[in-house]
Amino acid sequence: RFRWPAHNRSAMSTQAVSEETAVVIGLEVHVQLETDTKIFCGCSTEPADDEAPNTRTCPTCLGLPGALPVINEAAVEAAVKVGKAIDADIPETTTFHRKNYYYPDLPKNFQLTQYDAPICANGELEVAVDGEPRTIGITRAHIEEDPGSLQHVGGSIESATHTLVNYNRAGTPLMEIVTEPDFRSPAETRAFLAKLEEVLEYLGVFDPGRDGSLRVDANVSLVDADAVAADGSVPTPVLESTNRAEVKNISSHKGAEKALAYEATRQRNVLRRGREIEQETRHWDEGRGVTVSMRSKEAEKDYRYFREADLPALEVADWRESIAIPELPDARRERFREAYGLDRESASKLTSSKAVADFFEDVATEFDPELAATWVADNLLGELNYRELAITDVEGRLDEFTRLIGLVDAGEVTVKNAEEVVLREMLDGADDPDTVIEREGLGKAGAGEVESAVDAAIDENPEAVTDYHDGDEGAINFLVGQVMQATGGSADPGQVNGLLREQLEE
Ligand code: ADP
Ligand code: MG
Ligand code: ZN
Repeated sequence: RFRWPAHNRSAMSTQAVSEETAVVIGLEVHVQLETDTKIFCGCSTEPADDEAPNTRTCPTCLGLPGALPVINEAAVEAAVKVGKAIDADIPETTTFHRKNYYYPDLPKNFQLTQYDAPICANGELEVAVDGEPRTIGITRAHIEEDPGSLQHVGGSIESATHTLVNYNRAGTPLMEIVTEPDFRSPAETRAFLAKLEEVLEYLGVFDPGRDGSLRVDANVSLVDADAVAADGSVPTPVLESTNRAEVKNISSHKGAEKALAYEATRQRNVLRRGREIEQETRHWDEGRGVTVSMRSKEAEKDYRYFREADLPALEVADWRESIAIPELPDARRERFREAYGLDRESASKLTSSKAVADFFEDVATEFDPELAATWVADNLLGELNYRELAITDVEGRLDEFTRLIGLVDAGEVTVKNAEEVVLREMLDGADDPDTVIEREGLGKAGAGEVESAVDAAIDENPEAVTDYHDGDEGAINFLVGQVMQATGGSADPGQVNGLLREQLEE
């Protein structure tokens, strides 16, 4: 599948498209690789709180004359991990190129990127769309530097009085992942992006919570529905002779789906009016929910690519073998189902992130897997979700949650109290489970305490006792309620029910 160099398609025109059209989408996904330092210098990638503009910089990432780049080994390692995860070819040697264009956020007036020898080519990623597996081809994936950022002061790019430039971001390592035009609906792109993020997060090379860590350009065209084969493939000549729009500025899964749905409809309307689709770059305006034309699409030759002489070719042939990757989400889901007897839904919840899966596994090996699944998938994730927290936000407290599950397992606290009081108070404050249980008096009532509460309930409620003997089943529930209240909810309702019946039958 790997075709390179790409053709300049801007001169080609749309073929005739009949009423019945199918949408064709290919993605170019930029993700930030998690490394400590920038890709070609030693500056940190971690913005300090309230950092001043242009302080996290050095002569290299400012593009000062004479400053030379040095490749960050961690960025290459991360890229090799991605290559292995998407089953890509990793070449013997990979090289770097200058992509030349003038824009103020680009201090050198070129971007250091890769061109004809990218670090990954011919990969694939399987996604499930409505339960159906679909394999999306990945043409290539390469590493490059992020430009700086611009701040248009006093409004949009058109209305701003002036623009500020900040090079703190310049040189942040990015990986650009280019897919084949294999998507047949906006929904498929959303599933793909979710899956891609999940895999990257498992690899430990990506932080989905980081601002701007995922940026998507989406290429969209319409083809004759008859051109789509039963397996969803579209012949290359059809793809190549069809004009497409490249939609930029998409920053989320949901944004991708919305932008693409809008763009497909826009193109259908253009064709319906008997006009042609322009080969152009469009901008997704998230706020207005529309795509707007930015410019006619730049062609390959506009960038005057040439080899970066300051970076030698990188020998990566051995890296594929020497760099290990962890078990990936699909494999882990399968294993969880088999090893712990989980249903599909629990298995997929419990593998939604590596941190969740690791925690579940810790708990499941210590206690009953079913109890572990309920506690992690339903209780903990549910309560975290309600508070808009992720498991990584409470990473330092995982042993406290394990302790709580252990207390439930040992019958030291009732399930109801653990779920509805202890866990919630733990999350709303900073206390460990023992402290909460002690403070709220929730330690499971001892046998003696329960028995005396049962006796008291019978002594103090003669009417309910009479009703019970007259066959009123509701009376027993009332008495159970009295005992539960007296024990502060720390008794087991089933056990109380049994004890009451025993006493009342005597
Ligand atoms: P360019 O350099 O012009 O961006 P590429 O060959 O690198 O061209 O392709 C970029 C993206 O366009 C890829 O993600 C590819 O899948 C997608 N693409 C190619 N042909 C089509 C098409 N007919 N419709 C939609 N997307 C397409
Ligand atoms: Mg492109
Ligand atoms: Zn620097």
